[in-house]
Amino acid sequence: MKLVTLKHQGSEYLGIQSADHVIIPALSTPKEGIPRSMLALISAGEEGLSMLREFEDPDSTGVRIALANAELLAPIPNPPDNVICLGWNYVEHIEESASAAVRDRELPEHPVVFTKAVGSIIGPFDPIPFDAGFSSQWDWEVELGVIIGKPGRGITEADALAHVFGYTVINDISIRDVQFRHQQFFLGKSADGACPMGPCVVTADEISDPQALDLRCRVNGETKQDSNTRYQIFDIRKTISILSKGMTLRAGDIIATGTPSGVGFARKPPEFLKPGDVVECEVEGIGFLSNPVVDMEDLG
Ligand code: MG
Repeated sequence: MKLVTLKHQGSEYLGIQSADHVIIPALSTPKEGIPRSMLALISAGEEGLSMLREFEDPDSTGVRIALANAELLAPIPNPPDNVICLGWNYVEHIEESASAAVRDRELPEHPVVFTKAVGSIIGPFDPIPFDAGFSSQWDWEVELGVIIGKPGRGITEADALAHVFGYTVINDISIRDVQFRHQQFFLGKSADGACPMGPCVVTADEISDPQALDLRCRVNGETKQDSNTRYQIFDIRKTISILSKGMTLRAGDIIATGTPSGVGFARKPPEFLKPGDVVECEVEGIGFLSNPVVDMEDLG
């Protein structure tokens, strides 16, 4: 199933996305226990999913909105924790970063882990509020996002994928000068609007191999990143096992699994986003984000 969060008549709802429309189960048949939000659905486990599956029937009655008119929000606008991110998880991204003199060439023995503030999350088509007073080095990073379903601590690699609820697309917008001048990445990764996410969550049962997905980023239609999740250094199983060793992963936690090569700061000469640009991030089988970069002052 492709699941979305949308705004409808002033309220937030969980929706099921099909080729050309979105169904809102909570408004369709006022039935006891229908999850109204993505987090409620994730917490309800398999029972919640099977309730929603009834609405996939094309003859099911209910509130349908044309996909083109649906006001999509980030699929999980308010996760229980910061977005957990892996840094330098693709070999070619390490190589380009070494060429730009921000790290050495050596492959990491342990992943770099940081987080993005929850407040940085925006919807799949929302404007990215460009704040020139903060920085001029706004950069793109397409990533596969993993949504945790079943909570756990000490999860083994063998069990890891059973803890995944689904997958989404994340643009880990990074403010490079801020990222690199502080000891930690947090400030440079957490600007308001620096985490476009969506357009949907694809449930784990529909992605047979999450380590075989093409991912791409385009800026103004020009391809900047073009890779595949098979090139991750720490795959999703390893990542979940490492992250959960001492920390309980919770239902609705989001993991951004790292970006491939082709980011702006490592280009020669370096390139950064500016107002008027449109940045698109796409992962095979999930969909794409398309976010215009808009000067903050013009957003009011
Ligand atoms: Mg990243």
